[in-house]
Parts: sequence; structure tokens; C-alpha cells
Amino acid sequence: MKQRVREIKYRGTVENRDAAAPLLTGNGDTVIVERGIPRLIIMRCPCGCGDDLLINLDKRSGKAWRHYLNARGLTLFPSYWRDDGCKSHFIVWNSQIYWCFGWGDAEGYETWNVSQSIENVVYTALPEDRFVKYDTIAAPLDVTPWEVLQACRQLVKAGKAEVDKTSTVGSFRRTKKQRKLSWFEIIFGGKNE
Ligand SMILES: [Zn+2]
Repeated sequence: MKQRVREIKYRGTVENRDAAAPLLTGNGDTVIVERGIPRLIIMRCPCGCGDDLLINLDKRSGKAWRHYLNARGLTLFPSYWRDDGCKSHFIVWNSQIYWCFGWGDAEGYETWNVSQSIENVVYTALPEDRFVKYDTIAAPLDVTPWEVLQACRQLVKAGKAEVDKTSTVGSFRRTKKQRKLSWFEIIFGGKNE
């Protein structure tokens, strides 16, 4: 029976695909192939189908994923959606796997959470006069796009940001601050100009 896993196991960096093979023994086992620069990620499919997924990291060879490797684990952006074989679709964030259903939903999505400090960093970076896609906010910050997305969701919940309801890609802006009324306006209700 196929056994889906909920986290990947990062097994290190290798120089080529041959060197990767002995490291990929379990579902979700993952290596980065690096020659000068990171070229690709090879992952034993976390769905349990036994295939090895090749996830390109090198922009020069076509569509490439962004990857982040730190103490919290490995993060990939955007989600990985296989269009052949098992058709697996999942998000990798801090080495956790969130299985996706269709376009908008991922398993465990409601449990996502980022710290107040990340929320503050994202709030500061959000413009007030226009909507921006969350992953374009992520680029200059030291946080991953998934963290920015979650920070935006928390800010929307807190009334500090708004989501562009006409867009399906996740665009946000800062909620306009209510201008404080002067005492004159409060007393006379008119414009104090
Ligand atoms: Zn699979």
C-alpha cells in the first residue's frame, strides 16, 4: 500500500544523480545536486509511488523552484505539482509536507502560523496604495514566500491588511489607516481646513 509521508528527510548535497541514488531509500528522502550552483533537487516521491522527482533549481534550464535551506529545514516555492504518474501536489515548508487539493487548499493549512516579528516585517513591506502578490514581497525579505503568505493571512484576520478578492494568486495590501479626527471635526462635524 502506498504510504504518504508528512515530512521530507534532507540527506545532503551531492555532485550528480549517481551519487544521489544510495541516499534515496525512503519516501520523502531528498538531496540537492550542486555543481558550482544548486542544479536540482531529487526527492523520492513522498506519496509512496517509488518514483524520484526531479525538481529544477537552475533558472537557466527552464522553470525553476526557489529553495531555502536553514536550521528549520528545507522550503520549496512554489508548490510541486506533478502532471504525470501519481499526480502528487504538495507544499514543502520547513521540511514539512502539506498535501494540496486543487488550487486553493492544502492539508493542515489552517494550522500554519508565523511569529509576530515576521508579521511585523511583512506589514512594514506591504504597500498601502496597491495590491502586491505575496511572493514578490518575499524576495527582498529574509523570510520564505510561505511565511509571507501566512503573515498576510494573519494580518487580514487582524484587519491590518486586505486581500484582493478579484485575484486568485494571493495579492495583499495594507489596510488604509483611518485618519484621526481633530477635536474641531469631532465637535463641529465639519472639515477643519
Ligand atoms: Zn508519487
